[in-house]
Amino acid sequence: MKPAPFTYHRARDTEGAVRLLAELGDDAKPIAGGQSLVAMMGFRLARPRHLVDIARLPDLDYLRRDADGALRIGALTTHHTVETAGDGALGAGYAVLRDAMRWVGHLPIRTRGTVGGSIAHADATAEWCLLAVLFDAELTAYGPHGERRIPAAEFFHGFYTNALEPDELLVDVRFPAPARHAALTEFAERHGDFAIVSAAVTLDFGPEEGAGPGTTPLRGGRVALGGVAPTPVRVPEAEEVLAAGGRADAALFAECAARAAAAVDPPGDANGSSQYRRSLVRTLVEQALEEAVNR
Ligand SMILES: Cc1cc2nc3c(=O)[nH]c(=O)nc-3n(C[C@H](O)[C@H](O)[C@H](O)COP(=O)(O)OP(=O)(O)OC[C@H]3O[C@@H](n4cnc5c(N)ncnc54)[C@H](O)[C@@H]3O)c2cc1C
Repeated sequence: MKPAPFTYHRARDTEGAVRLLAELGDDAKPIAGGQSLVAMMGFRLARPRHLVDIARLPDLDYLRRDADGALRIGALTTHHTVETAGDGALGAGYAVLRDAMRWVGHLPIRTRGTVGGSIAHADATAEWCLLAVLFDAELTAYGPHGERRIPAAEFFHGFYTNALEPDELLVDVRFPAPARHAALTEFAERHGDFAIVSAAVTLDFGPEEGAGPGTTPLRGGRVALGGVAPTPVRVPEAEEVLAAGGRADAALFAECAARAAAAVDPPGDANGSSQYRRSLVRTLVEQALEEAVNR
């Protein structure tokens, strides 16, 4: 399929991109890596009359550490940059971001697709959306009225919809605190496909972890799921099991996974019934917890 006709504009800087978006109105869309938007346009699911190319904007391609240990990722940073980042660039406690990239499509897609594009696209099973919700990331939008910070929990409004105004760009994603024991896993029919269900978890053993997670009692943790609702979700019912403490062992993980499966009411579709997705939740949460504890 061919896209509907459009006019191409290339922005030179962030100010210019935002100005163009404001001038062109609702008929304009930014394009970053083009790995989702071009396909949507090809299928005529998106018909922007103007494309504002932001791919070459300076200063939005970075991995930075704040003094408080937070990690900030520029919106134009590609999946592949994160996938190949060393521990020095990423910082201790963010390795799960790097490891999660192997689940994102295929290498050519990861070399062009961007972190900001992925989050702005707001696919319910996209890895970056899930990681943003898991880490309580803070998303910075930039528009004609300046910067606006949006917590991940308020950013995703539904299938492919988000809190950005049409003339705003997502410019920065801030992961506020590291998670040493964290993992993301998922199930897709074929390697490189979007997940049917994905699960991401963190485990917190507190500062006195010295003796190792096998002996130190658990202090808490987070459980986030993709593919069970129109947006990625945290699962408080499962997190209560982790917050209750105790040994991080197979029995506790099984209980946590069962609670997660019981708490969700996934939609059924051609990729899997509601019951199938619920059973995937149980398997994947248990698997993610095992991976996280062994980190
Ligand atoms: C075959 C295939 C398999 C894939 N598999 C996966 C997968 O398993 N997991 C996964 O997560 N992704 C997958 N993707 C999508 C890929 O990760 C994309 O890179 C990503 O979804 C969008 O990033 P992009 O930079 O290409 O954005 P684009 O396609 O350029 O834009 C996507 C949307 O975001 C908007 N946008 C882009 N950047 C910004 C910004 N900074 N501010 C505001 N709005 C913005 C655009 O207007 C558009 O609406 C796959 C893609 C393909 C083609």
